[in-house]
Amino acid sequence: MPGRIRIVKGAFATAVGLSMPRGRELDEVYLSYVNELLQAGHKCSIATHHYEIQQEAKKLVDLYKPSQADYEFESLYGIQEENLWALKAEGYMTKLYFVYGTEWYLYLCNRLAEYPLNLFRALTDVVGE
Ligand SMILES: Cc1cc2nc3c(=O)[nH]c(=O)nc-3n(C[C@H](O)[C@H](O)[C@H](O)COP(=O)(O)OP(=O)(O)OC[C@H]3O[C@@H](n4cnc5c(N)ncnc54)[C@H](O)[C@@H]3O)c2cc1C
Repeated sequence: MPGRIRIVKGAFATAVGLSMPRGRELDEVYLSYVNELLQAGHKCSIATHHYEIQQEAKKLVDLYKPSQADYEFESLYGIQEENLWALKAEGYMTKLYFVYGTEWYLYLCNRLAEYPLNLFRALTDVVGE
């Protein structure tokens, strides 16, 4: 199938048996998909904040040398962005996923459901301002 494929671990809990829990096995599967796509020359977005996965994926990019249009590292705005900036500084293709517009409330709820600790981050930001 044509089109870019974004590899993510998945944000939400699913029914038992439908997904794998966080851990080494999931990380290996994640990287195996990245490997498969890069090896096949298929457009691929490596969307994760996981530092170790980013480092391993870098090795795959160095190995297969996809064109600049064929791969990118992606992160959500505000989440461990420094890793993404470091990748950019090293010359890798990067994209920061930035949400804007009027439908912000639903997105906020989504982010909190995905990672409840973000609530503390939001409070810290408000107090910090
Ligand atoms: C561009 C983009 C689009 C995505 N689209 C989807 C989608 O459509 N559907 C879907 O299910 N998932 C999607 N995801 C994945 C999801 O948003 C999280 O990235 C994922 O669930 C967290 O896994 P991780 O790969 O970052 O690694 P993890 O191992 O889960 O986390 C790595 C590190 O990042 C931190 N971290 C991870 N997530 C968050 C967070 N939300 N807030 C604060 N810190 C965090 C963790 O504390 C940990 O230190 C998308 C991700 C990106 C970057």
